[in-house]
Formats: sequence, C-alpha cells, structure tokens
Amino acid sequence: MTRTDAPPRTRLRRRAAAAILPVLSPLAKALGYRLLRIRDRGGLGIEDGAIPYGTSVFDDDVPGVANLDPALLDALRRAAADAAADRVAFTVNSGWRTPDYQRRLRREAVARYGSEEAAARWVSTPETSPHVNGAAVDLGPAAAQAWLDARGAAYGLCRIYGNEPWHYELRPEAAVTGPPPLHPTPADDPRHRPLGT
Ligand SMILES: [Zn+2]
Repeated sequence: MTRTDAPPRTRLRRRAAAAILPVLSPLAKALGYRLLRIRDRGGLGIEDGAIPYGTSVFDDDVPGVANLDPALLDALRRAAADAAADRVAFTVNSGWRTPDYQRRLRREAVARYGSEEAAARWVSTPETSPHVNGAAVDLGPAAAQAWLDARGAAYGLCRIYGNEPWHYELRPEAAVTGPPPLHPTPADDPRHRPLGT
C-alpha cells in the first residue's frame, strides 16, 4: 500500500505521529532511545542510513553520519561549530545510505512522481547517488541552509542542485574559487547521465 492510497484513519495516525515525534524525540534520546522518521521505516533501519529525529553532525553513533566521507564530516563539524556561535544548528536529515536504502527511496519517488524520469529529478539510483558512498549530506533547517549558502564555500561545503537547497557535498576548491554552478536537478548532473536518466 502506498502513502497516497492509505485509508483515512492511517493517514490521520501518520499525521499525528509526525506532529508528536519532534516533541518526543529529545526525551527519547535522553533516555537512550532513537526515534526513526516515519518515512524511514519499512524494513530498513538506522544501519541502512535511516536518520533519527534531531541527529546532528556530531552523532557518531548514527551510521548515516559516522559513515560519511571523513573529509566531508570534518568540514561539516568545523562549519557546525562556527554556526553554533551564530546560534544556528545543523540537523542531518540524510547522509550515508546503503544501496538497498537508496533503492527504496528511488522506488518511493517513482511511486510519488509517477515515472522514472520524474523521480530522477529528486532521487538518484544506488549506482549514481553520492549518498551511497558517503559524499553527500542533506541538512536543515532553513536557517542552516541560509548560513551555509552565505559561508559554506569557505569550508568547501557547496550546494549542487538548484532544486535541493538541503543537499551539500564537499568541493574543497570552493574555498578559493567560490561555489560551482548549480545543476538544476540531479537529472541534469553529468555524473548521472551514463544511465540515461
Ligand atoms: Zn541529498
């Protein structure tokens, strides 16, 4: 059953859970539990790259963070420490992912957007996604994105896609040259073109 054809009562339960999770999550974390995002359930868990609510770039016990490329993680932590001085916190919404997890996200995107071609504008395949080798991170909230848009290049942290203000990768040369031009969507990324998406 997909998200859109769920019965009304199930949809209501999902909405209620989505509202209460951000409140419960810090409490659960203090008690030693991790609450996974609703969309990250379904047989694949934290070991596959699902990220609990409220995860920071300093959470070494979350594989989606710990398995990021060490140079990317180092840049993220330096930037996050400096952003904290400006009262801006980075939240990790996604990081490293297993191929299985990436495959599921792509399958869900195809269901949501209606075709492989439309899905490719938002979610890459396991063969092409930089998340699978730990080279990309999705960050929030908007204040963190705004901070990085203004200052990220100094750390080599760059936006890559015009339609994904949350997706950052490491481009060390950006500290000198400035950020690279944006690709409109992941489907426009030359790294993804050999597969014809
Ligand atoms: Zn991403």
